[in-house]
Amino acid sequence: MQAVNIHTLTAKVSRVLTFSCVDGPGNRLVIFMQGCNYQCLNCHNPHTINHCNHCGDCVATCPSSALTLNTHKQVEWNEELCTQCDRCIDVCPHQSNPKVRSYSLRHMLALIEQHAPFLSGITVSGGEATLQLRFISELFRAIKNGASLNHLTCFIDSNGSLSTNGWDRLLPVLDGAMIDLKAWQQETHQWLVGRDNHRVSTTIDYLARHKKLHEVRLLHIPSKSDLLSEIDALAALINTLPTETQIRLNAFRHHGVVGEATSWPQCSKLEIETFQKSLIERTTRHILTPSDVAFR
Ligand code: SF4
Ligand code: SF4
Repeated sequence: MQAVNIHTLTAKVSRVLTFSCVDGPGNRLVIFMQGCNYQCLNCHNPHTINHCNHCGDCVATCPSSALTLNTHKQVEWNEELCTQCDRCIDVCPHQSNPKVRSYSLRHMLALIEQHAPFLSGITVSGGEATLQLRFISELFRAIKNGASLNHLTCFIDSNGSLSTNGWDRLLPVLDGAMIDLKAWQQETHQWLVGRDNHRVSTTIDYLARHKKLHEVRLLHIPSKSDLLSEIDALAALINTLPTETQIRLNAFRHHGVVGEATSWPQCSKLEIETFQKSLIERTTRHILTPSDVAFR
């Protein structure tokens, strides 16, 4: 393989959170990559799905003159002028946003190094993190080989669509993955995210066998998703997973969603507790639920 140039290998990043305690174990720096290969009807961050096509529609809506079209007809974002009002995101017709930044590997490593003394690790999320596989694998490799960084664990938060060949590439430098399972039946999954879930099942099995499956996240959308109606099959899967793998329930809420999902009923605390109880009755596992804050 070609030698890595840390100055020219870049990633499109929608946001970096320098501290999080909900995106994997301990204190983590989280990198949200731009771009996703799913089109989830329930997406909470639809502006991370596509890459900006520089149509320019958002430029005039910016109240702070933080957006301009340059001479090459590319939209440029001035972070210093931006007030983060998100009007540009609201008007974008393309499920994108103009605030995406291009980070070189060198730049990202420098940022991580700055925060490393306070971190347990980093998590790459999205969008769909694994669509920028080369960047992620080289980032993780550099962390593992860096004297001031190699105490950090490297995690991925993924929709599970990566092929096993892709996971093979990541495995030597990956400490753990959080994988979303959004629906059980192929038809339901296809309707909800635009693809079937064969790859997700394969990913869960692969990561479990290689002891890298940190967490499986189960989405509950009352009257829309099917994980509760398929509870026996779901529980059978959970019972095959390593005991170290966490099982976490996610409740559908309206925050950030657009389109038809805004009219779907939200998942209540009682409904998520019913789902949890049904799983506990069928498995020996501890089932994590969202905090009370999620239901406000
Ligand atoms: S969030 Fe978008 S619209 Fe708002 S100030 Fe920043 S660039 Fe302008
Ligand atoms: S962010 Fe959206 S509206 Fe703005 S230029 Fe890009 S595609 Fe067009």
